Amino acid sequence: MTENFQKKCFVCEEPVNEGCSKNIEINLPVCENCRGTENEKKAVKDLQEGMADGFVCGCI
Ligand SMILES: [Zn+2]
Repeated sequence: MTENFQKKCFVCEEPVNEGCSKNIEINLPVCENCRGTENEKKAVKDLQEGMADGFVCGCI
């Protein structure tokens, strides 16, 4: 079950192949359909902001 956890595209969550492309910024698999798209950039940003929330105070 956990085998497949990181074997899906982080943008559209479609299953991806073992040797699929990865986004180097966040080191997660991305499928051919999403690679290089605005959706990918947005998903990266969302994930990075989500991670940042875990480390810093959210006061603005
Ligand atoms: Zn995808």
